[in-house]
Amino acid sequence: MGTGEQAEVDPAIVIEACHALGFVLAGVAPAEPTRWRQQFLDWLAAGKHGEMGYMTEHLAERLDVRALVPGAQSVIVVADQYAEAGDQDGEVAADAGRGVVARYARGRDYHAVIRKRVWALVDALRERFPGEAFRPFVDTGPAMEREHAVRAGMVAMGSGAGVGGVGGFVGKHTLYIHPAVGSFVLLGGVATTMRFRLGGPSIADTDRCGTCTRCIDACPTAAITEYSVDARRCVSYLTLEHRGVIDDSLHAGIGDRLLGCDVCQDVCPYNQRNDSRHGTHARVHPAYLDPEGQHGTLDLIEILRAKDDAAARQRLLEGSAGKRASMAMLKRNAIVVAGNRIAAGGGAGGGDGAELVQEIRRIAADESEHAMVRETAKQVMSAMG
Ligand code: SF4
Ligand code: SF4
Repeated sequence: MGTGEQAEVDPAIVIEACHALGFVLAGVAPAEPTRWRQQFLDWLAAGKHGEMGYMTEHLAERLDVRALVPGAQSVIVVADQYAEAGDQDGEVAADAGRGVVARYARGRDYHAVIRKRVWALVDALRERFPGEAFRPFVDTGPAMEREHAVRAGMVAMGSGAGVGGVGGFVGKHTLYIHPAVGSFVLLGGVATTMRFRLGGPSIADTDRCGTCTRCIDACPTAAITEYSVDARRCVSYLTLEHRGVIDDSLHAGIGDRLLGCDVCQDVCPYNQRNDSRHGTHARVHPAYLDPEGQHGTLDLIEILRAKDDAAARQRLLEGSAGKRASMAMLKRNAIVVAGNRIAAGGGAGGGDGAELVQEIRRIAADESEHAMVRETAKQVMSAMG
């Protein structure tokens, strides 16, 4: 089948194949340029992507998926669910000597998990539709995957709904939300020259947030304005992506969050259990589960005393998505969390966090520590007075 006069394929065939591969959501969107070109360029021009340089790369492909695959007609979009909607067990309470790891940084490296199966999908499609071009992507790839997901009208596994009948939208916190599954999802997809029989308008323009502002109100660093997040203020970005010293004005907002932040998703009504809008199809792919719970919280003293080497990082973060953080970043974050613990009057080594104070003092004076880590220790000591 060539790209010239190829027949239109029933999207249900591909959606079923995606569900068989374990993707909780799947859909097909027409390959169209982004509607958010100017907003995206303005966001970049304002520097709100922080140090995520990859956002400025492959800009032409990001703005128009047809530059990613010449002659692209469609985008197949898939999603894995990495945490249960309204999973209260996921809200670990850190004891005084530990820092909290966000849900997506706990289980296995999620990029590796979703990438492997998106590539398997492409292999299956190549075999079934020879002559067509396919280009897979996952969420850091050069595609506006959230917009494609909205356009695709994603169908939840087992829902039996008609194609395009379920939908999805981008919330005020800028994350993709599926009404039946919530927002704890990872997106991937395939741009392709295949043509599908797609009915109806390509974009459901429904703003399902309505008057809700829970995520904006709850964000600990005021990073969210409606439909825009300033990454430079976002705790997820600061703890997992930012490679320098964290401005001390943002330390308090980090609270006890050591790696990542779930606040804007935790408060969202679409992630509440027993909400009548949720179907029964929410399903976490087993590869994301963290059966022993070893990454839900991490011991602050253990991190502060760890050497800045690969063995320590391996021990603390082995195999988890948190390994995006370097050991120096993890130590930096642990010092900030420890400072917040001490300011709150608690922490390891007694009610006043004496052991944490002692470690922070040592790090500030220890020339063998990473410069950023020492600088962070000095910031926290100066805040302690
Ligand atoms: S992840 Fe946390 S810090 Fe970032 S926007 Fe959401 S609530 Fe705010
Ligand atoms: S918390 Fe409310 S405003 Fe924020 S994404 Fe969810 S529904 Fe939208």
